[in-house]
Amino acid sequence: MRIAIYPGTFDPITNGHLDILERALRLFDKVVITIARNSAKNPLFSEKERLEMIRRSVRTLKGVEVDSFDGLLVEYARKKKAVAVVRGLRAISDFEYELQMALMNRKLDEDFVTVFLMPNEKYTYLNSSIVREIARHDGDVKDFVPPHVLEKLTEKMHEGKARSKGTKR
Ligand code: ADP
Repeated sequence: MRIAIYPGTFDPITNGHLDILERALRLFDKVVITIARNSAKNPLFSEKERLEMIRRSVRTLKGVEVDSFDGLLVEYARKKKAVAVVRGLRAISDFEYELQMALMNRKLDEDFVTVFLMPNEKYTYLNSSIVREIARHDGDVKDFVPPHVLEKLTEKMHEGKARSKGTKR
């Protein structure tokens, strides 16, 4: 069984993430899509909400496990008996950071393999922070996320606005 790990923040999961996941499923028997708990980031959605959105998004896909982890990716990959870690490359701007991470992880564990996949070009300019930003300004993000994620985003933006109105009074 060839297992791969697909780590990220997924705040929220987008069609770009799902494009990469589906490509990875063609190469591996199982892909573990996993939320990296990162104290440096302050996500809009809680871990529980992000896990729920991922689970709903992958319901029709075979060979996917949904998880989250703390600590070093190399340790987690070893624990999961993964043969590779999958990352998406959108543009040259992703490359420098991804190269640094891939080489550092290989330094920590020489068996660590990173596989880079490129999404359909329509997703090359897409990331979760742009989606959050557009949604915050009531822009239309329906082409970028699954319908149930769109619903959660709309709810979250209304909650945020109601809260800030409450504090102004
Ligand atoms: P973000 O989506 O904010 O860039 P994530 O940490 O959630 O950040 O991304 C997890 C992985 O998915 C990374 O390898 C990232 O490059 C990749 N990824 C994210 N969005 C896309 C996209 N639109 N197309 C391809 N890969 C993507």
